[in-house]
Amino acid sequence: MKAIAVFPAKKETKLIDHALPEITKSTEIKIRILEVGICGTDKDICAFQYGTPPVGSDYLVIGHESLGEVVETGKEVKRFKKGDFVVPMVRRPCDHRSCFACRSGHQDFCFTGDFTERGIKEAHGYMTETVVDNEKYFNRVPKGLRDVAVLTEPLTIAEKALIQIWQVQQRLPWGPDRKGQKKGYCHKAVVLGAGPVGLLGALALLNAGFETYVYSRGSDTSAEASFIQKVGGTYTSSSSVPINDFVKHVGNVDVIYEATGAAQISFQMMEVLGTNGVMVFTGIPGIKGPIQVNADQIMKNMVLKNQVFFGTVNAGRTAFEAAIKDLGVFKKRWPKAIQSLITGRYEMKSYRDLLLGPKKGIKNILVFNEKTAS
Ligand code: BGC
Repeated sequence: MKAIAVFPAKKETKLIDHALPEITKSTEIKIRILEVGICGTDKDICAFQYGTPPVGSDYLVIGHESLGEVVETGKEVKRFKKGDFVVPMVRRPCDHRSCFACRSGHQDFCFTGDFTERGIKEAHGYMTETVVDNEKYFNRVPKGLRDVAVLTEPLTIAEKALIQIWQVQQRLPWGPDRKGQKKGYCHKAVVLGAGPVGLLGALALLNAGFETYVYSRGSDTSAEASFIQKVGGTYTSSSSVPINDFVKHVGNVDVIYEATGAAQISFQMMEVLGTNGVMVFTGIPGIKGPIQVNADQIMKNMVLKNQVFFGTVNAGRTAFEAAIKDLGVFKKRWPKAIQSLITGRYEMKSYRDLLLGPKKGIKNILVFNEKTAS
């Protein structure tokens, strides 16, 4: 069967023939991959800046945002049946007995760093026709979400961030606890960056009740700006409005959701986080050398304003379940907008331009096993 693989030593990305995986354990399921989303991490791997092949392999099959259909189940599989749509998780646990996180199924918080990630770190990914794995790494998707379910994995980043935001903000009286109001009610959230992670993050924050502002490089007439306006958020271009002016207009910034992977602008944003605010970092910057940071101001604010900054990576089952549930809500609330996040669906053979070429639209999808590419 075919797969899209990166050969780091040869600095090559190509379509290869890959062995067809078979079920060998009674707890495994086999899925045929339907769609795989392309993200910044895939592009970084194809630029040889990130990603590691499995031990003993000179290549890595990439792809970690996917949707599949169950085609076979092992004898003991209880949660799935043939024909179910599923979204697989990305991270697999390390082997260390002492890793409390991995031993309790929370490998997204692995302590040792010896986890693997399918399509990213030491395990082949989903840009291939068939995948086999333990049933515990899959999540069922309702049939009605077939057209948007490939967005589940990128949405899990915001879902895991939100789960942690609620945990952190339990430390204080977080606004008027009005019956029937959502948890983010009467709070302001700023999303930094308008790539797929930022836009999906904005939907999650809006849906949680936050007054949501997106601050990003693109102009006020960009597709991303019009997306945000359509869903009820406010878009401001960082190319025309400096951070301080932007924040004067927002007021007390309760939450900042960083989705740029750019350190300079993120640390400038830290300076304007409001009283009792929380800032979440989700982007992974390339290491480009030291930058100037207004450290005294940041530290002063951190203490005098009770601020919390945290980073978040990957996602566990709870975040996947929340993402699938929320995709259903988004589809009802913003049916056209959610579809508009998907720029195009392409056949496997179009991988080269999408992975190695310049940015094109918002989210591009590779379609496998089907002739439905548009
Ligand atoms: C993926 C995560 C992964 C992270 C770090 C992201 O692109 O969505 O699942 O943990 O990269 O490798």
